[in-house]
Amino acid sequence: MKVTDNILLLNGAGMDSNVYCVDGELLVDTGTGTFVEQTLEQMDRFDVEIGDIKKIVLSHEHFDHTGAAKQFKEKTDAEVLAHKEAELTEDRTLSAAFDSDFEPPEVDRRLEENDVVKTKNYSFKVLHVPGHSPGSIILWDDDRGVLISGDLLFTDGFGRTDIPGGDEEAIKKSLRRVKKFDNISVLLPGHGTPASNDNIYDDGAIENILSQIQ
Ligand SMILES: [Zn+2]
Ligand SMILES: [Zn+2]
Repeated sequence: MKVTDNILLLNGAGMDSNVYCVDGELLVDTGTGTFVEQTLEQMDRFDVEIGDIKKIVLSHEHFDHTGAAKQFKEKTDAEVLAHKEAELTEDRTLSAAFDSDFEPPEVDRRLEENDVVKTKNYSFKVLHVPGHSPGSIILWDDDRGVLISGDLLFTDGFGRTDIPGGDEEAIKKSLRRVKKFDNISVLLPGHGTPASNDNIYDDGAIENILSQIQ
């Protein structure tokens, strides 16, 4: 599904996270690995060349986002990027809870606060937003008002903290940072429906969710 002219939402089936494809060159999150073929088919349908994917950014450790990273890395030869505190171990990815033999990808580049991830049309700043997990990041393009929010913030709620690595005080602090953005026009969460002020998804979802942050 096309969310904006240059951003596709792929997958999001079953336990999988949403997978975003930006400008045909960046994937954000990968799903568990169960639906890799379907994700590739969707890319093909939107004329994305798998070989053009240069970067795979992992929004955080959890297996529902990182499970397929190794497979996508092998298929694309893309660099895998994750926050420096995102440890892809069994207890941090919670892979055992998914009853799966997780093979973590090699992380090629470790991200820090204020790093920039660029594509043809976007320039995303990396913000470290712990709380749902220690290595959670969001990607924020301030000029375009595009926020890729991982599991920090959804269009209908906030990330869980009642899991290993979760920290309620930390997520509150992280959410308050997002609440200060006054120009979010596209919200691309790690699960569920995106929201956009420019198209059919506009139902006040962005304003509504920001207003719930305390
Ligand atoms: Zn998730
Ligand atoms: Zn998560």
